[in-house]
Amino acid sequence: MKVTVFGIGYVGLVQAAVLAEVGHDVVCVDVDQVKVDNLKKGLIPIYEPGLTPLVTSNYEGGRVDFTTDAKMGIEHGELIFIAVGTPPDEDGSADLKYVLAVAETVATYMQNHKIIINKSTVPVGTADRVSAKVSETLESLGKAVTFDVVSNPEFLKEGAAVNDCMRPDRIIIGTQSETAEKKLRELYAPFNRNHDKVIVMDIRSAELTKYAANCMLATKISFMNEMANLAERFGADIENVRRGIGSDPRIGYQFIYPGCGYGGSCFPKDVQALIRSANQVGYQAKVLESVEAVNYTQKEKLFEYISGHFDGDLKGKTIALWGLSFKPNTDDMREASSRVLMELLWEQGATVQAYDPEAMEETQRIYGSRPDLKLTGTKEAALDSADFLVICTEWQSFRAPDFDLIKEKLSIPLIFDGRNLYDPKIMSEYGLHYYAIGRGLSI
Ligand code: NAD
Repeated sequence: MKVTVFGIGYVGLVQAAVLAEVGHDVVCVDVDQVKVDNLKKGLIPIYEPGLTPLVTSNYEGGRVDFTTDAKMGIEHGELIFIAVGTPPDEDGSADLKYVLAVAETVATYMQNHKIIINKSTVPVGTADRVSAKVSETLESLGKAVTFDVVSNPEFLKEGAAVNDCMRPDRIIIGTQSETAEKKLRELYAPFNRNHDKVIVMDIRSAELTKYAANCMLATKISFMNEMANLAERFGADIENVRRGIGSDPRIGYQFIYPGCGYGGSCFPKDVQALIRSANQVGYQAKVLESVEAVNYTQKEKLFEYISGHFDGDLKGKTIALWGLSFKPNTDDMREASSRVLMELLWEQGATVQAYDPEAMEETQRIYGSRPDLKLTGTKEAALDSADFLVICTEWQSFRAPDFDLIKEKLSIPLIFDGRNLYDPKIMSEYGLHYYAIGRGLSI
């Protein structure tokens, strides 16, 4: 099938690549000329496991192309995806300017029936706004062309995006149009072989499903962080509690890890956006407000431990930091807990010596060169002449480090672990002073 994808970000690029991989003919349109030029040279703008070979082989095979030429893109696709960003507006609600700009562009160039599929995460009612924008643009141009607008939210996880798109848990299709449903079922048939994962519903429910999913996951995290804060005060160990409650199949083990807060491009913005949308319909989303508030303070947790340990005197300290990305297997630094920590440490006059397997370039791009940030080539080099170690992201390569070497290199045998990677008993056997989340203030 001929498909066009607007927006070559995490969602658009991965979706385009997997659609091309199963044989669809895909054109990707973006406003970023540099991104398009780089993709044509085989330079992939994001780190995502398995993505580079998938994009390269499908580009070389002529199944996916990249362009800034919207007119060409719109002529190409009978199915047109909108996968552009929906960043938070000043008040936290989702900013739809990119989505509506694409709607207008599509209407400007379309000459025959198009199915416009919204993959971006957008507030309930956005499909109506997209339809209105397309209709009014068509009318102003005197064109009598028909179209459908479908909601098809994306559930991929950064760090596992290719696998998630190849083997989706569910494919939500929000539409009342039988033709659009049929076309989308055909498009996704290669990903829907094992059992029927397609769930068809009305458009508004599809739009809300995406927010409900992300808000539920964020709620699980903030709930566990609240339990961790209680465990700390009660002298309990949250890791025992986690195993204890996870064994209940109604709760389950997934997504109940305590830590130094959630980040990324989705949870913080989607929780905020749903709170704002709720306000607009006269409802106060109290659970979600608390989820957000708990996360906000949780991101300062490591700093609180560190500052408490040193009685607020961090001036001149050098801190080894392992993990910069908001979670493992991505280079995405949006809303990462490491950023909150680094910025607080810098305010106190400390220097950060950081290592991350993938997010160093992105860190450099965000913070530029500054004397109080040193990026090192290995996790061991981050320990050189450092006073103590802090862990912000649970990369696999941090799970079983050489603790003797850590102790030898640090001037103070001290670890602050924001992801509860190690066993406190083993840390004490190594003679390492260990702070973790919800396991007793200092062990
Ligand atoms: P992103 O910021 O990585 O990419 C967006 C792309 O859209 C950019 O390349 C930008 O240049 C391009 N763009 C902006 N305006 C355009 C226009 N008028 N025409 C063509 N291209 C344009 O965004 P993302 O992380 O891929 O997210 C996209 C949407 O998907 C968001 O709504 C997000 O909430 C949602 N989503 C993201 C994820 C995720 O894990 N990143 C998962 C599910 C859903």
